[in-house]
Amino acid sequence: MIDAHCHLTYPGLWEISPQVISEARRALDAIVTCGLPFDEVKEPGFPGAVRALELAEAHRGFVYVTLGLHPTQVSEMSDEEVESYIEFVAANSGKIVGIGEIGLDNYWIESEEERKRARRVFFELLELAERLGKPVVIHSRDAEGEVLDILSSFSLKKVLMHSFTGNMTTAKAALERGYYFSVNYRLTNTKTMRKIAKNFPMEYILLETDAPFLSPTGGVNTPLSVRLVAEEVARLRNLPVEDVDKATTRNAVEFFGLKTR
Ligand SMILES: [Zn+2]
Repeated sequence: MIDAHCHLTYPGLWEISPQVISEARRALDAIVTCGLPFDEVKEPGFPGAVRALELAEAHRGFVYVTLGLHPTQVSEMSDEEVESYIEFVAANSGKIVGIGEIGLDNYWIESEEERKRARRVFFELLELAERLGKPVVIHSRDAEGEVLDILSSFSLKKVLMHSFTGNMTTAKAALERGYYFSVNYRLTNTKTMRKIAKNFPMEYILLETDAPFLSPTGGVNTPLSVRLVAEEVARLRNLPVEDVDKATTRNAVEFFGLKTR
């Protein structure tokens, strides 16, 4: 079983990550953590991404890293900082299994000017992914149409819609293009995600926790709770959890090109 998207470096989870990783080694096949320029609070030197890369290095073959830039972070960064971060990602391309999360967020970003900037940066990061031949992990909130629009100018084959909460029309449009979906515990209370988990072809489904967020029990979520997501998918599809495990693990391995057992 693989947690295809979480934030091991985020405060709350970062402090307990050694124990969490050693427990996860017994329960999971791999963890894909998402490195961002910074986690909760902005700091210089891209500490979020640096820590994520170090974790992957220390737990080679178990912790993998994608590097992204959350759209809401773009508003907190200068153009120079964004450019130097994109160079940083490119310079570390050999150590990452994908670019993401990247995308658009019209829920949190209200000003048209900032939305425009977020779109420009998203475009630039997709160009980078295409140039490097990397899979992309998409964050999209209240912006699914725009996101699909921008993606249509690229020939990216491996696109993962992470925590997709748009409507079914855009979900189906994404599926028709062969995009993948990573479902998390939101499937217990979000209609679209539930339908995706229940009805979309199994080959396009991955599991994630988005830890430390979206805890099933409140408090700090960890990659270990990915099992609960698998159980819920199994219940919705009326399948043994082992089948869901096997299929989603294979999907994650193939999507990110993981060199796990
Ligand atoms: Zn996330």
